[in-house]
Amino acid sequence: MRKLLVVLSTLFVISTQVMAKNKPVAIAIHGGAGTILKSNMTPELEKAYHAKLEEALKAGHQLLKRGSSSVEAVQAAIAVMEDSPLFNAGKGAVFTHHKTNELDASIMEGKTLNAGAVSGVSHIKNPIKLAALVMTNSKHVMLSGEGAEQFAKTQSIEMVKPDYFFTDRRWQQLQKILKNDPDTFKLSEDKDDKHASSLHQKPNSIWPDDKKFGTVGAVALDQYGDLAAGTSTGGMTNKKYGRIGDSPIIGAGTYADNDSCAISATGHGEFFIRVAVAHDICARVKYKGLELQSASDEVIKDKLVKMKAQGGIVGMSPKGEAVFSFNSAGMYRGYINSEGKLFTAIYKD
Ligand code: ASP
Repeated sequence: MRKLLVVLSTLFVISTQVMAKNKPVAIAIHGGAGTILKSNMTPELEKAYHAKLEEALKAGHQLLKRGSSSVEAVQAAIAVMEDSPLFNAGKGAVFTHHKTNELDASIMEGKTLNAGAVSGVSHIKNPIKLAALVMTNSKHVMLSGEGAEQFAKTQSIEMVKPDYFFTDRRWQQLQKILKNDPDTFKLSEDKDDKHASSLHQKPNSIWPDDKKFGTVGAVALDQYGDLAAGTSTGGMTNKKYGRIGDSPIIGAGTYADNDSCAISATGHGEFFIRVAVAHDICARVKYKGLELQSASDEVIKDKLVKMKAQGGIVGMSPKGEAVFSFNSAGMYRGYINSEGKLFTAIYKD
């Protein structure tokens, strides 16, 4: 009798695994939206972006094929982009007004509505992994700054010195913006720094004039029918006063619910927070019965445009359909769909 039970339960496990293997898996990513124009790109840079997007997609997709969860796949894809200086996340993150790099990330599981997030961290190589640990190994949803880093020390996660995040490109971007920032002299801690005071010129916007949002994000559907979404960013260049954007905020930059959709956003965080972009899109699917593409376009191409806010999203439906919506000239993006087709793109058309 016991032997029969063992055989039956083994058969049950095998059959559920076989059934799961036949279910569709899919992954989609973004690497930021904004004024990304072909005229500002070199063929080499274009090639590098496509290659990195492909590498990130494959890293997540391979895991999904092997039976890993959508949460694991999202982390793997995002970690590839965090490790690349091409994107404003992890290595290559933008600089704050105070010449530091402060990183934000979040992740959400569509089956349980569990979520984890970190904000303002400066020593975590892959903030998306710390966000996932907050979700699984703590009682909280979001940990910030020093507290998040104290928590990181209790976990097995790679920590780095702050200068790991330095890239010349982002440094030059900050210098350009500081020239026009009325607060540069007032807020600068190094008032005696001749370089800093020479940067104090006429007042202007505190936001980058080239409006590029390089945040990275991923959404995925696994063999078990579960959705997940994650987002990671350095925030906005020249951010001040411990500013936190939408990326680590569940409902704004990231949301996943098996009953509606998974969303990761990129754009001007101050607007994305107020619109609760990621949750608003899922709510339109759930309560208005809209298709994911229409729900996304209503929020990104109508609501946000009326507010003069730039950005976009990548989304995934419970069936594994990948959706992009953005109101800017371009968005680094790509997917591997349920048929295994790989697609990457940068510009609008
Ligand atoms: N959404 C990010 C923020 O406001 C910026 C971005 O998408 O690049 O922090």
